[in-house]
Amino acid sequence: MSSTTGQVIRCKAAVAWEAGRPLVIEEVEVAPPQKMEVRLKILFTSLCHTDLYFWEAKAQNSVFPRILGHEAAGIVESVGEGVTELAPGDHVLPVFTGECKQCAHCKSEESNMCTLLRINTERGVMLNDEQSRFSINGKPIYHFVGTSTFSEYTVVHVGCLAKINPLAPLDKVCILSCGISTGLGATLNVAKPTKGSSVAVFGLGAVGLAAAEGARLAGASRIIGVDLNSSRFEEAKKFGVSEFVNPKDYNKPVQEVIAEMTDGGVDRSVECTGNINAMISAFECVHDGWGVAVLVGVPHKDAVFKTHPMNVLNERTLKGTFFGNYKPRSDLPSVVEMYMNKELQLEKFITHEVPFAEINKAFDLMLKGEGLRCIIRMD
Ligand code: NAD
Ligand code: ZN
Repeated sequence: MSSTTGQVIRCKAAVAWEAGRPLVIEEVEVAPPQKMEVRLKILFTSLCHTDLYFWEAKAQNSVFPRILGHEAAGIVESVGEGVTELAPGDHVLPVFTGECKQCAHCKSEESNMCTLLRINTERGVMLNDEQSRFSINGKPIYHFVGTSTFSEYTVVHVGCLAKINPLAPLDKVCILSCGISTGLGATLNVAKPTKGSSVAVFGLGAVGLAAAEGARLAGASRIIGVDLNSSRFEEAKKFGVSEFVNPKDYNKPVQEVIAEMTDGGVDRSVECTGNINAMISAFECVHDGWGVAVLVGVPHKDAVFKTHPMNVLNERTLKGTFFGNYKPRSDLPSVVEMYMNKELQLEKFITHEVPFAEINKAFDLMLKGEGLRCIIRMD
């Protein structure tokens, strides 16, 4: 047992006081974990576009003041009542969507949409008592998707923590806690391209390139990358993306461009942009008869998906997924093993690194569309 067990911990956290304003590193109080909760020390975290959306709060409802962050790796400091499967010292990846192991979803082989712990972007408190575990001078600072990893210590429901191989380097596998598993799983678990097939990936950020990596692992013969930012194309070559389309270069819809390139459409497409038009194009660019499109991007809160029903009747399938359909506790440890066995490279996704004090630089980079993942070092 550590000396901090049962005590309030005072530590540094990056607080989003209001939408779109730089985060401020503050000293916060982190209360001990309650029933079915775990307090962990975050060692590394990274920035995913979903953090940026809820920080900007332009296209999403958000709660302030809040501690953002959900892509991270840490070590268990102490556990609350009822937690038996984790102990202090365990290495864990927090995940924005959980796995209670008891509900109909958790018992289904098809779903990872746990009834109790599925992603909830509007809740800023813990489930147990509807209170926040973070405060500054007694005033609550709210949680984000149950993880709030932009803090040296955080409290997470045990169902949102995957226990991983203690030998895995946390500064690398932290990116598996959201973006990379999401993209990889969207292709491998949901789109399921067959060997020799064609796959279009919309959005060549880390999530999209992880989707491309999934296509490469599945043996796709053509991987077509679509992005509005042509500077993404050079980097994408490292991920097996062999052809590029910038919708801005054409005066017709990108779905028509892709249909022409592929004699009627791609076999699979994976959308990783969050842009509604890209979602519609990603659906309409798959081949009739067998094509499958998978939506991954988090849309604007008022977005409406519009397509002619004939596009569906012509035997195209539209799917969507959170976290690449992986069940976080059951499946994530094996994704970490894919990295440990060198089946999956994570280094090529990590383009920047900053100390915690410079966390706002990670936001600037993403806003400028530079790089893929920026690791934020907590020590
Ligand atoms: P990112 O900002 O690094 O990459 C997004 C890319 O999409 C950029 O390169 C951008 O230029 C491109 N893009 C934007 N609009 C486009 C359009 N209309 N056509 C083509 N390209 C376009 O973001 P990321 O971290 O890789 O995340 C990608 C998306 O996935 C975000 O919407 C994020 O919120 C979402 N996400 C979803 C899940 C999930 O479980 N479903 C998990 C993580 C992230
Ligand atoms: Zn469940």
